[in-house]
Amino acid sequence: MKRIRIAIDGLSASGKSTLAQGLAKSLNYLYIDSGAMYRAVTLFALREKLIGHAGELDEEGLIQSLNRIFLTFRFNPASGRGEICLNGRNVEKEIRTHEVSRHVSLVSKVSPVRDKLVRAQQRMADGGGIVMDGRDIGTVVLPDSEIKFFMTASIDARSERRYKELQKRGRDVSLEQVKENLIERDRIDSTRDHSPLQQAENAVVIDNSDLSIDQQFEHMLTLINETLNG
Ligand code: C5P
Repeated sequence: MKRIRIAIDGLSASGKSTLAQGLAKSLNYLYIDSGAMYRAVTLFALREKLIGHAGELDEEGLIQSLNRIFLTFRFNPASGRGEICLNGRNVEKEIRTHEVSRHVSLVSKVSPVRDKLVRAQQRMADGGGIVMDGRDIGTVVLPDSEIKFFMTASIDARSERRYKELQKRGRDVSLEQVKENLIERDRIDSTRDHSPLQQAENAVVIDNSDLSIDQQFEHMLTLINETLNG
């Protein structure tokens, strides 16, 4: 059986990673969360004080520091997935804070940051057998991937979902703050010059506002199996 590359793009908190992880597990493929890589670079920038109090980013400083950033994924049997490590240390929890979410879209606009991460993502996908999710996977990272999905959902459905996730992790943030962050990230991600969030021409659109995870999963798996058998 051939081992294909599956690209999943979409809006913030549209449920991409849940579906991508589930599909990777069921197909016995590698799952790569490309958003975690942009988040880890943002965490680095915050730690190095390259982001000021007013949220301004020292772009030159970040570009100069890129050669000090090493990102890897390490498999954690407890969570059943690869977790992101920044310079050898697992930062999977730290990258999910509201502070990182607030600044990540500014960091991910910087072209040399994207160039570095896109190259790394392409290397990881080299052998096939991969599910990768993000914003530019079907358009820029893996334009030749065998199947592409684009996930979307209403802003209310996405805010509720992300709010519940953050609450479960004990994060002190309101539904309104979560909603504002998603709107702002989608705005910056969709309008940036370098590889903006956009639906690939041949992507299958999944609007999951009213679909359960199981329904989406079954639908996507059917299409993947058709691709594998076709
Ligand atoms: O997927 P997640 O919401 O964790 O991504 C965080 C941020 O990383 C996005 O809002 C976007 O700014 C950036 N990103 C990107 N390209 C990707 C994946 C994520 O620009 N392929």
